[in-house]
Amino acid sequence: MSTPIVLITGGSRGIGAATARLAARQGFHVVINYQHNQARAEQLVNEIRATNGLAECLQADISNQQDAQQLFDTILEQWGPISALVNNAGILEQQSDFIDITPERWHRVFATNVFGTMLCCQHAITHMRDHHLKGSIVNVSSLASVFGSPHEYVDYAASKGAIDSFTKGLAKEMAAQGIRVNCVRPGSIYTEMHADGGEANRVDRLAPNIPMQRGGQAEEVAEAIVWLLSEKASYCTGSFLDVAGGR
Ligand code: NAP
Repeated sequence: MSTPIVLITGGSRGIGAATARLAARQGFHVVINYQHNQARAEQLVNEIRATNGLAECLQADISNQQDAQQLFDTILEQWGPISALVNNAGILEQQSDFIDITPERWHRVFATNVFGTMLCCQHAITHMRDHHLKGSIVNVSSLASVFGSPHEYVDYAASKGAIDSFTKGLAKEMAAQGIRVNCVRPGSIYTEMHADGGEANRVDRLAPNIPMQRGGQAEEVAEAIVWLLSEKASYCTGSFLDVAGGR
């Protein structure tokens, strides 16, 4: 059997990078997608290869239809069809009340978090269907979809709510074709994303109110993602795994 190929979107840092490292250790050929940070993506590829893992990286803005098409075409031409996809790329913007959020901003947030994820799912399902592969898709949502992120980024939370609904529907559509679609919802995880929202120490501020009284690590989220990707989760589809310290 050939080595299964997994595409991880937004994989140059944070949860995506931890997922790439773990998936490579567990025998996947990992394709790391990045948008801007080529140096970190290449560094991660070199790190994985140094421990005998299989890894590549490709630039693409997954919210852009041409970029997404090119990304999947290149993977097919160079390494073959993917049988696993992690829709990890996601953005948020400065903490703000909803009243101050512009339509331009919420279009940007939905373009990556929702429409980029949907685009990648269509391409991935095409790879799987055309090559008669069983497949596994993991969407990275957020517990923000449940709590709503008031006074911070309700646009981001709403985009993750859309991912939850999309996961449920797509899982039901694809189940009979052997393609599983699941969702991981992280809580407050130590990554650089919080600095993008204007509060680099946000996780430490929230930690006392988390039942486990600490933030999570990207590696703890990666474990859930890679388990759902794997055949160990063979009877899970349309499932939501919250990695959130009890929230
Ligand atoms: P992160 O450190 O900000 O990393 C996000 C990555 O996404 C970046 O590497 C970025 O790539 C990439 N990206 C953004 N827009 C993209 C686009 N249009 N096309 C391709 N790549 C794009 O974030 P993280 O904290 O690891 O979060 C990963 C996922 O977990 C996100 O979906 C996030 O919403 C979710 N999540 C995170 C937390 C948390 O507390 N950290 C909690 C709940 C959910 P470049 O750097 O190359 O531009």
